[in-house]
Amino acid sequence: MRLADTRPPFAGLANLSWEALASLPTPCYLLDEGQLRRNGELLLGVQQRTGCKILLAQKAFSNFNVYPVLAPYLAGTEASGLYESRLGKEELPEKENHVFCAAYRADEFAELLQYADHIVFNSPSQLAKFGPAAKAAGKSVGLRLNPECSTQEGHAIYDPCAPGSRLGTTRAQWDAAVQADPALPELLDGLHFHTLCEQDADALALTLAAVEAKFGGLLPRMKWLNFGGGHHITRPGYRLATLEQCITETQKKYGVQVYLEPGEAWALNAGYLVTTVLDTLQNGETSLAILDMSAACHTPDVIEMPYRPPLLDAGDPGEKPYLIRLGGPTCLAGDVVGDYSFASPLTEGQRLIFGDMAIYTTCKNNTFNGMPLPPIWAMDENGTCRELVKFGYSDFKMRLGRAAD
Ligand SMILES: *Cc1c(COP(=O)(O)O)cnc(C)c1O
Repeated sequence: MRLADTRPPFAGLANLSWEALASLPTPCYLLDEGQLRRNGELLLGVQQRTGCKILLAQKAFSNFNVYPVLAPYLAGTEASGLYESRLGKEELPEKENHVFCAAYRADEFAELLQYADHIVFNSPSQLAKFGPAAKAAGKSVGLRLNPECSTQEGHAIYDPCAPGSRLGTTRAQWDAAVQADPALPELLDGLHFHTLCEQDADALALTLAAVEAKFGGLLPRMKWLNFGGGHHITRPGYRLATLEQCITETQKKYGVQVYLEPGEAWALNAGYLVTTVLDTLQNGETSLAILDMSAACHTPDVIEMPYRPPLLDAGDPGEKPYLIRLGGPTCLAGDVVGDYSFASPLTEGQRLIFGDMAIYTTCKNNTFNGMPLPPIWAMDENGTCRELVKFGYSDFKMRLGRAAD
C-alpha cells in the first residue's frame, strides 16, 4: 500500500510503503536520494549549458553520507569556515573547496589553507591581513561585495544589503581602502556577492546590474565572479532561462568564470521529518497536538525565519474540517510548528510527515530541554530506507561538560 497524497513536495514518497514508514523510529529525518538526484540533474544541466560551476553551500545541507549522491553533479563545496571547509576536503577531496567567512581567525588560517582552494574575504582589512599568505600558498583570492541592492521583502535578517550591514564590501569602503593601500587590488583573483534568499532569477538580474554599476570596472581583471547562493533554482517555476542568460552574458562580457553556491537548491524538497502525535488537547476553542518533535530543536527555522513547513495530508486553516495547532514537547510556549487542518481529528500514536526537511534542519538542530537529536535516515529510489546515524544521551551530555571517568 502506498501513501495517498504524494504531490510535491511529497512526490518522493511515491515509493515509500506504509510498512517502511511504520518501521521508522520517530522523530526521524528521512533524506530522499531520488529527489537529491533530480535536483542534481537540474543543476548539472545549468552547468553544462552555460559553463558555470555550481558549488554546494554546506551550511544548508551537510549530510555527508549522501554527498556521493550529489557528487556527479557538484563542481565543489562552499564552506562558512574552517570546519565546513575541512568536511568538504574530507568527504569530497577531488572537488573544488571554497570558503567565505565574515572574519577569519589568525590561529586557524594556516589550517584553512590546507583545505580551501578559493578564499573569499569579507573586508579590505581581512584581505590585507590574510590575502598575502593565501596567495603565497597558491590560493585563489576573492572579496565579497555589497552591491547595496536589496531585493527581498520581509526577511530583513536575510538581507546582507540592508543599511549598516556587516556583510560584503561597499564601493565606498573599497575606494577608501585602495586609497590607503594601492596594492590591494593586486591580491584579487575574483569577486563574490551573496544577497539573495529563496529568490528567482529576476532578483539575480537586478543584483547583477547593481554589481556591474558599482564594480564593473574591476571585473575585466578578474578570473571569476561568484554569484553566491539564495537561487531557488530547483523550485518548480523558477526562471531558468533568465539565470542562464545572466551567467552566459557575464562570462562573455568580462571573461570571468561564473560560480554559483546555492545550498537550498541542492536539497530542496529532498527530506522529510517523520513525527508521532504524543497527546491531543483542547483549550477552549483551540485543538492542540503535542508531537515528539520540537520546532525549537529540530526545525529552528520554523521559528527563526519564520516559515510554515508543508505537512502531508493536511491543509491550511479552513481547508479541512479539523483545525489543530501542532507543537513540541519542550517548555517553550512558542514551540509551535503551526496551525494545520485535517480531514479527521488527530489521535495519539498517529504519524505525521513534514516536507522539505533536508535543508537548514539537521545542520541546525540542538538539544535544548534535553531533547534527543533525531536519527537521520536515507531513502533510495525504490523507497528502501536505511539508518545513516543515530544519537543518544551522550550526544546531549558531551556538549555540556566532560563526564567523570
Ligand atoms: C547562505 C549562503 C549560501 C547558500 O544560501 P542558500 O540560500 O542556501 O542557497 C551561499 N553563500 C553564502 C556566502 C551564504 O552565506
